[in-house]
Amino acid sequence: MMKIFLNDSLVEREDAKVSVFDHGLLYGDGIFEGIRIYDGCVFKLEEHLERLEYSAKAIMLNIPMSREELSKAVCETCRANNLRDGYIRLIVTRGEGSLGLSIHSCKQPMVIIIADTIQLYPPEFYKDGLKIITVPTRRCNPAALPPTVKSLNYLNNILAKIEAQHLGYHEAIMLNDQGYVAECTGDNVFVVHKGEVITPSASAGALKGITRDAVIAIGEELGIPVREANLTRYDVWIAEELFLTGTAAEVVPIVEVDARPIGEGKPGPITGRFLEVFRRIVREQGTHI
Ligand code: PMP
Repeated sequence: MMKIFLNDSLVEREDAKVSVFDHGLLYGDGIFEGIRIYDGCVFKLEEHLERLEYSAKAIMLNIPMSREELSKAVCETCRANNLRDGYIRLIVTRGEGSLGLSIHSCKQPMVIIIADTIQLYPPEFYKDGLKIITVPTRRCNPAALPPTVKSLNYLNNILAKIEAQHLGYHEAIMLNDQGYVAECTGDNVFVVHKGEVITPSASAGALKGITRDAVIAIGEELGIPVREANLTRYDVWIAEELFLTGTAAEVVPIVEVDARPIGEGKPGPITGRFLEVFRRIVREQGTHI
């Protein structure tokens, strides 16, 4: 039986219910983290909790638990479900309130932790690479809704995902309102050009991905220069290599964008090195549950 952490205790899945008046449901008013557990160790837990705190601060949400309490609750939820490898979804909603946007009617934010198995991308995606497209839906302007806030409102990304899937693709590159590459619907983007690895900055509309940060650190370790810059669709089309990063996806090679083969049209060597090191460190680092 699956156990869910709800507010301050573990409850059975059937009893893990939220109110229809929760502003997380009514307005997407809340924040979350997607976290991996590898072989009984939670990967980058502190970093995820820090990002959650920053998201909370940005939307003026008081998380009713300390970092230490959240960390303990995440580990406890994994243990209660005998989960050693999987995916943890940590959610904080604005809580129950009245109909209306005001945050002041919501007295008690709701903390939810789900620890579940993960449906991984098939191994072919890593071996053969993925084909993706750019889509018309633009990433939210940071002045309208900062993409650095990992909020419960994913409609912007969902619209882009619909466009990609409608045309038979799994992922899509989203541009910002200036036409520069922002990110994918649920992953960050990196290009490799003339031996340099380049990724859009947060101000271009990218989430500060935990995997993105890990990849930047791996670049330093490998002596491969990684930097942030604005990227156009042209920069993507002429890249020697392209890859996506995300908690669920890890490091995925991209072999085609908008019908243009990337590099040789097969996963590139630099992408391969990043993926290999990433898969090593996820097993070496982490918080034991
Ligand atoms: N961008 C978006 C829009 C995301 O939702 C995610 C997380 N799935 C990412 C990037 C990757 O971030 P992380 O490496 O922290 O999972």
